[in-house]
Amino acid sequence: MPAMNNGPCQPEPPLILIVDDEKMMRILLRRALEKEGYRVVEATNGQEAIDAYQRIKPDLVLLDAMMPIVDGFTCCAQLQSLNNDNSEKNLSYSKGSGQQDSPWEIRERPTPVLIVTGLEDAESVDRAFEVGATDYITKPIHWAVLRQRVRRLIEQAQLYKQLEAANQELRRIACLDGLTQVANRRGFDETLDREWRRMGREQASLSLILCDVDFFKGFNDSYGHLAGDICLQQVAAAIQVAAKRAGDLVARYGGEEFAVILPNSPEAGAIHVAQEIRANVAAIKIEHPKSEVSQYVTLSLGIACIIPLPNYEPRMLIDTADKALYQAKATGRDRFILSKLG
Ligand code: GH3
Ligand code: MG
Ligand code: MG
Repeated sequence: MPAMNNGPCQPEPPLILIVDDEKMMRILLRRALEKEGYRVVEATNGQEAIDAYQRIKPDLVLLDAMMPIVDGFTCCAQLQSLNNDNSEKNLSYSKGSGQQDSPWEIRERPTPVLIVTGLEDAESVDRAFEVGATDYITKPIHWAVLRQRVRRLIEQAQLYKQLEAANQELRRIACLDGLTQVANRRGFDETLDREWRRMGREQASLSLILCDVDFFKGFNDSYGHLAGDICLQQVAAAIQVAAKRAGDLVARYGGEEFAVILPNSPEAGAIHVAQEIRANVAAIKIEHPKSEVSQYVTLSLGIACIIPLPNYEPRMLIDTADKALYQAKATGRDRFILSKLG
């Protein structure tokens, strides 16, 4: 095996994209930056820089202002718009995450751009910052200054990335039920809202299944609350296995009640999932001496399906599934009922 400088867990050194049309300048910059331990990729004009930027996703861009084909200012502006596009894509739909207007949302910060140029006039400096440059240094380069600026910009960018990762984790946890590790009520509400709007736009079917453990009070009475908790964890896991598609969401809706949101799923699909949920719960055979319908833990399920219309609202889907669940209970439990809207 070849010798490696970095162990398997060590992150790779930061990657810097140098953009300059002068070959000698690129050589000098590369030499100085590699000496500091950075990885370096070169581009000779603005267009090449944009292509390389998308391909390699650098941690920092050192950008000359005066270049042929696409100059540094235009290039910098284009890099910013690329960043904006990406951050919108990242935030638009991610399973289980908060909504875009969540109070702790941090937008992805663009990769820092350090303009390195012979232009010293005030107008050029102003223009550089207007098009989104993070910092500006002039040629001839003061190498000690360049080193410090590069180090600081990369540190800031890394800190920001860590903060964003921590925030994402916080958003995920805020939407998770601590006991069962499926989504909590907040996660349910946010996902239902989002999918409601999405299915409305696409005029596609949105299904909801509400599942309630039968005679669960009796289960707690026989085995104690702790065993009841473990039972809920097992039931949640059994439901989760049945929700196979990336857009499906399982949530703990309340005490011993779970909800499954199934986007792009007509009635037949929802029935199929409900059948699988029942089969999965039956397969784990949790003894339930107080159940009046089975020797084992069972669920009653209510299913509703809708193509969202402007004069409808998500509450109608919940109410319909709830009515179906009530019927499943009233007609003997351990079954699913599909209820039509209206
Ligand atoms: P049904 O078949 O009509 O649904 O009867 P049930 O006994 O399941 O329904 P009921 O609403 O009377 O009781 C629900 C029970 O669920 C009561 C409550 O103590 C229990 N429960 C709710 N949340 C939890 C929990 O987090 N852990 C445990 N162990 N029990 C819970
Ligand atoms: Mg119950
Ligand atoms: Mg209940």
